[in-house]
Amino acid sequence: MWEGSGNNYAYLVTDEKTKNAVIIDPANPPEVLPVLKQKTESGDIKLQSIINTHHHHDHAGGNGEILKHYKLPIIGGKDCAHRTETPSHNSTFTVGDSIKVTALHTPCHTQDSICYLFEDGNDKAVFTGDTLFIGGCGRFFEGTAEEMHKALNETLAALPDDTRVYPGHEYTKGNVKFGIKVMQSEPIKKLQSFAEKHKETQGKFTIGDEKLHNVFMRLDDPAVQKATGKSKPVDVMAALREMKNNS
Ligand SMILES: [Zn+2]
Repeated sequence: MWEGSGNNYAYLVTDEKTKNAVIIDPANPPEVLPVLKQKTESGDIKLQSIINTHHHHDHAGGNGEILKHYKLPIIGGKDCAHRTETPSHNSTFTVGDSIKVTALHTPCHTQDSICYLFEDGNDKAVFTGDTLFIGGCGRFFEGTAEEMHKALNETLAALPDDTRVYPGHEYTKGNVKFGIKVMQSEPIKKLQSFAEKHKETQGKFTIGDEKLHNVFMRLDDPAVQKATGKSKPVDVMAALREMKNNS
């Protein structure tokens, strides 16, 4: 959505068997509603709920307008507009018969940030909002370096390495431009060349990839410690964010 300015992503996820579906962060109804209308009317989807990753307007700001067209529960953090339900950390719910969703609380960018792990058999995807981006992370608007360290390097790092990452924005080009100044490893060079060739990078990388090419998930890397002049993980995290903000 808002291609060229916000470069936000909304995601529609459907259980193939039952057609039950959820729409994640449908913040710009003029772009989202026609898709929902077409797919609902053709019988491709049965909308079950709206899911929000956090309360910011470019993620949860479309809820009111979507509700005018579809009467849906809204699953999201405490500050999300029209929220009806906030799943507790590590709690699960299902989409149709096959998809299991686990809510992972990752406060920092906002205190109500939640990432959602979707599992269907062996397929795993995590929707990370503005907490984890491909090659980067969100700003610490409502939280601390300690909280982002926990969100990325404990909560999300604990997911299986083959979990695909679907972030809230297409920020990869900018992230890699910063990251490559911090470390010049093979994985980050690979990410740079991918970002140069592809406009969209969502779902193309995994948690395992992020552990290799994302500087915010490599706080123990000597190159990252050298670039920040820090060694304690929380201090490295704080310094990296500060450097990125000023880059
Ligand atoms: Zn945000």
